Amino acid sequence: MNSIDKVDIAGKKVLMRVDFNVPVDANGNITDTTRIKAHLRSIGYCMEKGAKLVLISHMGRPKGQRVDKLTLRPCAVALSDLLKKEVPFVDDCVGEKAQAAVASMKPGDVILLENLRFHIGDEKNDPAFAAELAKLCDVYIDDAFAVSHRKAASNSAITQAVKTCAAGFLLKDEIDYFNKAMKDPARPLVAIIGGAKVSDKIGVLENLVDTVNMLIIGGGMAFTFLKARGLEIGRSICENDMLDKAKSIMEKAGTKNVKILLPVDCVVADKAEAGAATNVVPVEKIPQDALGLDIGPDTAKLFGDAVKEAKTIVWNGPMGMFEIDAFSKGTFGLAKDVAGSGALSIIGGGDTDSAVHKAGVSDRISYISTGGGAFLELLEGKTMPAVEALESCGG
Ligand code: AMP
Repeated sequence: MNSIDKVDIAGKKVLMRVDFNVPVDANGNITDTTRIKAHLRSIGYCMEKGAKLVLISHMGRPKGQRVDKLTLRPCAVALSDLLKKEVPFVDDCVGEKAQAAVASMKPGDVILLENLRFHIGDEKNDPAFAAELAKLCDVYIDDAFAVSHRKAASNSAITQAVKTCAAGFLLKDEIDYFNKAMKDPARPLVAIIGGAKVSDKIGVLENLVDTVNMLIIGGGMAFTFLKARGLEIGRSICENDMLDKAKSIMEKAGTKNVKILLPVDCVVADKAEAGAATNVVPVEKIPQDALGLDIGPDTAKLFGDAVKEAKTIVWNGPMGMFEIDAFSKGTFGLAKDVAGSGALSIIGGGDTDSAVHKAGVSDRISYISTGGGAFLELLEGKTMPAVEALESCGG
C-alpha cells in the first residue's frame, strides 16, 4: 500500500480524508478530541512538507441534508488550538466556495471543509461527487481507518478520479499492526473476545477459530457458550438462537487444536445495578435467579496465566459489565495482564479502549485501534473496501 511518506506532496494540493466524527454535547461543544488528535501525525507531516492540506470528513448521519448541528465547524476551532495555527473552515466540501478557498492556499496551510454527508453522493460512492472532490487536489490521502470498511465517494470512488493516492500514517499503522498480529504472528496468538452478544461477533469467532492458537471468551457472550456446554446459567444474558453456533465453534476448535477458554467462575448479582449484592460462584453453581455480570477470581487467574504465555494478543470486548464498579475487576485485571505480558498486544472497540484507559495501562498496549466496526471486520477476515480502492488508484 502506497503511504504518505512515499509521495511528493511539497507545494501540492493534498486532499486528506480524516475521521472527525467526534462526540458533541447538546450545545455543539466537542466532548472528546481523541479522533482529531489521531490524525495529527499525518496533518503535521503535510504541513512540514509544505503541502496545501484540505481536510474532509463526515460527522453523524445527515443523509444528504444540511443539518446545522452536524457541522464540522467546531472541529476547525479544535484543530486550530491543537496546531496553534488558524485552520479556516469552508461551509461546503465541493463547488465554487471550496475551489476558491483551495486556490488561495499557501504551502503549509490547512483548511477544513464542511461535512461530506451533507451531500448524498458521498454515501452513495457516486463517481460524479468524487470527481467534484478530485477538483480540489493533486494528491489524495486516506487516513480514516474507522470508515474504511464502508465504501464512500470520499474513500473509494475518489481513488479513480485522482492520479496519486496514498495511505496516511494512521491508516497505515492500523493495517500494519493488524497484519503483524494476524497474518504473520509470533505464536502463541491469543484472541480475547468479550462483550454482550455472540450474535454481534459470530463472524469474528468463526474466523478466529481458523487463525489463533487460543480463544478466550468472556463477558456476556460466555454464558451462551456455557449453556451450549449444558450448564445452567440462571438469568445471565443468553442467546438461545446462538447455541448451535456456539457448539459448532467449540467443535471446530477441537478439530483445529485451538484451545477455547471459558469462565470457570463468575460474579453474580440479583440485578445489573450499582449497589446490588454480589457473590462469586463456580459456573456450575449459578443460582437460578442470579445474573452473571463479571468473571470471577479463578477465571481471572486462568485467563491471566494464558495471556502471560502469549506472544501476540488481540482483544475486543469487556469481560463483564465493567461500567459498574462491582463488575469491572475482571476486565481491568485482564487489561493489566495484557499490558504486562510483553506480547504484541492489539486492542479495538470503544469499550476495550475505555477499559485499558481506566485501568491506567493504555500506554503499555502495543496498539489501540481507532476503528470499532472496521477493526471487527478485519477480525472477521474481511478486506477493507477503502484500502482496496487505494491500492487500485489511478485517476
Ligand atoms: P460489545 O459492544 O458487544 O463489546 O458489548 C459491550 C457491553 O457488554 C458492555 O456495555 C458491557 O456492559 C456488556 N457486558 C459485558 N459482560 C456482560 C454480562 N455478563 N452481562 C451483560 N452485559 C455484559
